[in-house]
Amino acid sequence: MSHEHAHEHHHDHPLEGGHYHGHEHDAKPAAGSEPDGLVTTAAGTIEIEHLHFHYPDGTEALIGVDLRVEHGEKVAIVGPNGAGKSTLLLHLNGIHGPSHGVVRIGGVLVERGTVRRIRAVVGLVFQDPDDQLFSPTVFDDVAFGPLHMGMARERIHDRVEAALASVGMSGFEARVPHRLSLGQRKRVAMATVLSMEPAILAFDEPTAGLDPRGRRGLIRLLDQMQQTLLVSTHDMPLVAEAFPRTVVMDDGRIVADGPTDRILSDGPLLEAHGLERP
Ligand code: ADP
Repeated sequence: MSHEHAHEHHHDHPLEGGHYHGHEHDAKPAAGSEPDGLVTTAAGTIEIEHLHFHYPDGTEALIGVDLRVEHGEKVAIVGPNGAGKSTLLLHLNGIHGPSHGVVRIGGVLVERGTVRRIRAVVGLVFQDPDDQLFSPTVFDDVAFGPLHMGMARERIHDRVEAALASVGMSGFEARVPHRLSLGQRKRVAMATVLSMEPAILAFDEPTAGLDPRGRRGLIRLLDQMQQTLLVSTHDMPLVAEAFPRTVVMDDGRIVADGPTDRILSDGPLLEAHGLERP
């Protein structure tokens, strides 16, 4: 089973599922793209315009979201449960397709014809690592993306080692993913996208379930990253420490977007949206 198929099993509304209305072909390379079609890190821009999304049961999860994130920016998304944070992240690599509006990654419209290419550019790490891990060994899970891209074996080995090292999981290559602790599984799930060296990393609640050491290691990792980061979290101290910009969502809308110190010092705003000062 491929990662893409794993995603489809866990999310009932994939872009490939026929709910998407775009028909443009994947003809125009992104700004900063290589001749072989791989988009470089210069393409780590996210543009979301007037995004609406409703689930098949009619739930309006996103209601007119506009968001632009520049290459290399680190942006936290906060807001109460049900605000639409996960749904928004799932649009970045085409797991969900907009009911209305557009999502562009490095200038490329996310749609059926571009979704494969987009998934090499946007590394999305789900809240639940079991949505991401399905191979018999940690090595196989982390190697899956580069292998799928057709990378040579020796390079894949280096990618896997580097990805595991960056999440503090070197030495776990031969282990069975589903027998690891939750914190370890979360770190391996992260390595499965880091091995692709994506220009954009989108994490859904990355610190949930991590012990203090794992959390500290993650914060260090986030600090070192050159990629564009879009991270949904309830961990307000993490937001204060690692993200210069914060977006507040509630009820399917962005209700505030600005420098983190300004957002986190706005008591009435935080209170109105069920958030705590770090
Ligand atoms: P958050 O990540 O901020 O907690 P979500 O994006 O998970 O919010 O959810 C946004 C809204 O969409 C909520 O009202 C939630 O109940 C609804 N929702 C999420 N997943 C589904 C689904 N598969 N089917 C129907 N409604 C859903």
